[in-house]
Amino acid sequence: MDNCIFCKIISGDIPSSVLYEDEAFKVIMDISPAAKGHAIIIPKKHFANLFELEDDFANKLLIVAKKVAKAMKKELECDGINLLQNNGEAAGQSVFHIHFHLIPRYHDDKVKITWTPG
Ligand code: IMP
Repeated sequence: MDNCIFCKIISGDIPSSVLYEDEAFKVIMDISPAAKGHAIIIPKKHFANLFELEDDFANKLLIVAKKVAKAMKKELECDGINLLQNNGEAAGQSVFHIHFHLIPRYHDDKVKITWTPG
């Protein structure tokens, strides 16, 4: 889709740090991380948000999230991981190509997740 930053990341027109890729998803490092290791799961097909997401992608998504979360937990030795997702501007969505945040967490971290756009 024209002018979608995540479509450009998927196509490779905009560079990104790729953690995982398969036929349907790309997982990249967030450019403005809420915490060290913050990654985002992006379906390769454009859907604005959950209201549009096709069932096939919805079904596969949690499997990808689980796979990447387990790898992150092992590599980063974090104590937990937030899996978060925003739908619509009112809910804090700022990029309108659906994506899912994976945020490593530690018992003693001081991370605050606010989701205020900008
Ligand atoms: P949202 O607020 O849930 O829509 O999250 C959008 C996320 O995309 C934010 O965490 C941004 O930091 C991230 N983001 C925006 N542009 C880029 C980029 O070019 N590369 C990687 N992450 C990005």
